[in-house]
Amino acid sequence: NHLPDSQEVCAFYDQALTQMLQREHELNVLFEAALANEEFEVYLQPKVSLTDGHVHGAEALVRWVRSKQGTIFPSDFIPVFERNGKICQLDFYVFEQVCKTLRRWLDEGRAPMVVSVNLSRQHFKNPDFLQAYAQTARQYGIPEGVIEFELTESIFFDDQGIAHVKEQIGQMHRLGFGCSLDDFGAGYSSLGLLMEFDVDVIKLDRRFFTSVDNPKTRKVVDAIVSLARELKMDTVAEGIETQEQLEFLRQVHCDRVQGYIYSRPLPIPEFEAWLDGRGKDTETRN
Ligand code: C2E
Ligand code: MG
Ligand code: MG
Ligand code: MG
Repeated sequence: NHLPDSQEVCAFYDQALTQMLQREHELNVLFEAALANEEFEVYLQPKVSLTDGHVHGAEALVRWVRSKQGTIFPSDFIPVFERNGKICQLDFYVFEQVCKTLRRWLDEGRAPMVVSVNLSRQHFKNPDFLQAYAQTARQYGIPEGVIEFELTESIFFDDQGIAHVKEQIGQMHRLGFGCSLDDFGAGYSSLGLLMEFDVDVIKLDRRFFTSVDNPKTRKVVDAIVSLARELKMDTVAEGIETQEQLEFLRQVHCDRVQGYIYSRPLPIPEFEAWLDGRGKDTETRN
């Protein structure tokens, strides 16, 4: 049996690192052109109310659609753009596409819904970033309360300090944006976060729901949903795929569900078709 010597190990890592850096470099170089060529596409995934089956809103999720290479998923480019700061430009682009869509929906007389946009922690390094968002929302005539930002707990552990993040969340509300805490329970989520930060919605990470037949899971989720209710926060369960998970969430009175069980994230025209089809369904059901 041959054990690699340190030189071989170094050569291996060297090669892997070089490949990774090359890939990062490639993505960086492609970014500006991709933005200009509208290769980034906004997909929407519905959030469905558990009490009445009504589509409460949708989350905007970006895809990088390259004609020859196919579609690249966020996990393959978001971390790269987080490192080089381009993520802020991309998030803003997604936000503006959402504003355009909401404007069109308003003009077409579609029922209003809340659309959420993910915001990278990188934004919080810039004290005035919200001004640009608010200005664009105004430009498109988006009413207050229609756009919500999804933030992950990572922003709370940033160098900026808690006071700074608190202030920015306050600012968000003053400017008419909602705010949700994404992936709650995925990392080191502390209940202290819920005490400190005035978020409107808690999104429970999908790993809570991998074992809904486990009595411990039930108790934990039950407690989080109750606590959220006491704190006047809504709850959304993420990544729901099965009827069993849905039944469990009904039992614990979770407010809304997002997951493949209703729909995968869809390109906007397909999302609209999905909504219209669903509307017809309920008409015939009633
Ligand atoms: P996220 O914000 O937590 O979004 C939910 C992710 O779960 C999405 O992955 C969605 O496609 C996936 N998902 C939804 N339902 C199910 C389900 O039933 N089962 C499973 N297995 N997965 C489900 P996606 O679209 O690949 O995005 C991954 C992450 O990338 C997002 O997690 C978010 O953190 C980030 N991301 C996506 N778009 C943007 C963006 O425009 N800006 C920023 N900053 N981050 C984004
Ligand atoms: Mg999200
Ligand atoms: Mg999410
Ligand atoms: Mg999430």
